[in-house]
Formats: sequence, C-alpha cells, structure tokens
Amino acid sequence: MQPFSYAEASTLPSAVDLASTHEAMFIAGGTDMLQLLQEDVLSPATLVGIGRLPLAGVEVDADGARIGAMARLSAVADDTRIQQHFPLLAEALMATASPQVRNMATVGGNLLQRTRCLYFRDRTAPCNKRQPGSGCGAMDGQNRMNAILGGSKSCIAAYPGDMAVALVALDATIEVRGRQGPRHVKVADLHVPPGDTPQIETTLRRGEIITAIRIPRNAFAAGSHYLKVRDRASFEWALVSVAVGLECDGDSVRAARVVAGGVGTVPWRLRNVEERLRGHRLDREQAHAAGQIAAEGADPRPGNTYKVRLLQNAVERALMIAGGLL
Ligand code: SF4
Repeated sequence: MQPFSYAEASTLPSAVDLASTHEAMFIAGGTDMLQLLQEDVLSPATLVGIGRLPLAGVEVDADGARIGAMARLSAVADDTRIQQHFPLLAEALMATASPQVRNMATVGGNLLQRTRCLYFRDRTAPCNKRQPGSGCGAMDGQNRMNAILGGSKSCIAAYPGDMAVALVALDATIEVRGRQGPRHVKVADLHVPPGDTPQIETTLRRGEIITAIRIPRNAFAAGSHYLKVRDRASFEWALVSVAVGLECDGDSVRAARVVAGGVGTVPWRLRNVEERLRGHRLDREQAHAAGQIAAEGADPRPGNTYKVRLLQNAVERALMIAGGLL
C-alpha cells in the first residue's frame, strides 16, 4: 500500500473542496476502496473521508423516495417503506455482498464500485482500465466473469453492482454536488461503456460527490423481481442478474422495464425485450420468447459464452416470477 494523507470532511462544501484541489479520492464505507488500496490498484495522494457527512437519511413520500448517499445498504434494504413501494430495490440490495458488507457499504459508494475483472485487481497484469495503453489481459485470458455486451477492443470488464441495475429499471436519478454547484444525473447515464478510454467509468466530474438517490413513484411495485445468478448464495458478484418491473393492465403488459447486470460493461437495459412485452399478455410462451431475444448483440469471449444462454434463461425466469407465473 502506498502512503497517503487523510482528510476528514465535516461539511459537503469542504468535501468538494478537498477532492477538487488534491490528487484525492473519497472514502465512505471503504468496503471496496480498502481492497483497492491494499492491492495497490489505487494510490491516491489524499483520501477524503465523507462517511460522517449527514447524508444518510431515507425519505419516502407520494412523489417517491430520496435516499441519502451515505445510507448503508442494510438500512435501505430493511426500510419497510422501501420494501413496500420499491421491492425491486430491496431485493437487489439483499442480494448484494454479505450482511457485514451491507452494514458498512454506502449506497453512494456502491454505485461507484469497481469491476471485479481479475486483471484490473492484479497490478502485475496488463489492464487498460488501470493503466491505459498496457493492454487487456482478459481479452484472451480469464474472462469468465467479464461482459458480453457493451465491450470494446480495449476492455470487456463487467459492471459488478446489483443496486444500479435495479435503479436503472426504476428510472432513478442521483443528486450530485461539485464546485459548479448541484446537478442531477440519471443512473442510466452515470456509467459509460469503455470505448477507447476504459479508465473513464462514469460521467462524474473531478471532485463531484453523489449526495442522494431519487426514485420516482412508479407502478412496478406489484410486478417486479430481481433475479441474481451467482456461483454461491452469498457474498458473490452476479454472473447474470435481471431486474424486471412490469406495469400491467389486467393480464396485459402496459409497460416493462428489463435491465441486466453481470453481462454488460454498464447496467444493461434490454429495450428489445421491453418492446416485445409491451401491449401483450404475459404468459409462459411470451416470457420464453422475450428471453430468447435478451442476448441480441452479445459478443462473448470463449470463457463467457455460457452467459448468452444464462441471460436468456434468467430473463425468462425473472419475467415469470414478476408476472406471477412461478
Ligand atoms: Fe482491464 Fe478491462 Fe481488460 Fe479487465 S477487461 S483487463 S478491466 S482492460
């Protein structure tokens, strides 16, 4: 681990100032950051502690929910108002990591967690994301966990999170504060595919801090499901995950949101599946047909070809559960 200085931010403006004027990074729960520091993957000159900023409140009203960025995953998952009105989010959070990690990790930090690509976390290996221009070890190496959608010649790292997948389905927005003041960013626009610059992972500007997540009230609570397929039942990242939200008119689907995790370089919205469902009765045949088109455009590597079939089956199953067919 490289030496670094530590500065505890006592106010939001001081956090923004500290992060804007130093070679600095934020740390809140530290569940991902500490691993990255220990493995020498990251070596900031300054860590700005933001875990004590008063940004942990959870508010739910007729317009939706506002979740402070420092709220712990477990606090949000256990909130009965979130469970009642946004069960998709509660399910995704409960599928995340382990109870110990959920008690420490913050929702803001969880949105920004780094990829689990083996080569990114091994500083002796080539990795364009960690060291631009060094190559991509995963392309012809161990790529079982990597993405099949949204990759480039430079990088095929999968976005590892669960919560962002559910938040994209729920049309959530983040509140951000920087030196230029506050602004809002849709969670769907937060993460960017790698292209030629895989080291750039989000649309956040230098020094900007996520202060809250806003979720609009929606009609998906009665018909939603988060399905996560992983190697073991706890403390494991998704091979494939699917967030489904259905707005139904009788047994007909008026609107659908279907977003996949573990397969894309960013949370991957399956618009073709949504379009296929819209205006149709959801039955087993329809769920199967929708699942069959879920991996359109996939470009798997030899080690992760299995994700194509897994994604198709996961979408079918998640639709059946959300639609009450299982
Ligand atoms: Fe690095 Fe991306 Fe290649 Fe993984 S897939 S080794 S993160 S460049």
